Amino acid sequence: MSQPLSVALGKKIKLADFDPAYNAGLKKSAGQSQADEFIDSLDGYAERLYAEHRRAILIVLQGMDTSGKDGTIRHVLRGLNPQSCTVTSFKAPSSAELAHDFLWRVHQAVPPQGNIGIFNRSHYEDVLVVRVRKLAPQDEWKSRYERINNFEKLLCDGGLTILKFFLHISKEEQRKRLQERIDQPEKRWKFRMGDLDDRQLWDEYQAAYEDALNKCNTDHAPWHIIPADHKWYRNLAISHVLSETLAKLDPQCPPPPENIAGLVVK
Ligand code: ADP
Repeated sequence: MSQPLSVALGKKIKLADFDPAYNAGLKKSAGQSQADEFIDSLDGYAERLYAEHRRAILIVLQGMDTSGKDGTIRHVLRGLNPQSCTVTSFKAPSSAELAHDFLWRVHQAVPPQGNIGIFNRSHYEDVLVVRVRKLAPQDEWKSRYERINNFEKLLCDGGLTILKFFLHISKEEQRKRLQERIDQPEKRWKFRMGDLDDRQLWDEYQAAYEDALNKCNTDHAPWHIIPADHKWYRNLAISHVLSETLAKLDPQCPPPPENIAGLVVK
């Protein structure tokens, strides 16, 4: 993969430099079978992470509507034991959530030791939709980048590994996917009129994403920019990062109870 998936710290990220249709020159069938190998490797690691019960992983999925957040969960995480996984989808905050600071609801959803947590949207909405749709004053959302970095550092210091994925699609690919949602009866449930309003604000969202990627690309919680016009390449790239990360963490089962060797169960 010659287009980097994560961006070197200190290097200014310009989304225009990243091709959403990048596929490393692979054929779809080859990419799919590589992805299957990575995906198959995840369950063993996740099982040991659960047994070890010391560390946890948080996967943050962000991207424009139709960028494939749901598809990633369905395809890449399909082999994981549901007992050790949590998926949290962040919607517009409730009045109770709005009465707290913006990280309150997020902290409660952070996976406990041994688990893999998936955020379908996340605290980044608080510097994305909130900024673009002017849901909070500028002073407020501008102060949030630093608060997010501090929050993520606190979580990492506590044994959490954070993997943040920006699913990067082109405006034309989004047009096709939205049209499919309108035209194909089985996909219509996914369509919201609000998606068209957000599409009108495409440039504003891209600018907000660029800022979030630049201001919150830290060494403790780096961003991965995932080319997402090809669903199979998106799955390959994400499963690759996940599998590599778990291999590096190398979770270990705890030692068995003493004097177990030779024990016969009657
Ligand atoms: P999705 O598009 O994720 O499949 P929905 O269609 O229910 O699911 O959309 C969730 C909506 O909630 C999105 O429009 C998103 O921008 C919005 N949302 C998430 N977090 C916040 C937030 N903190 N403030 C305002 N809106 C938010």
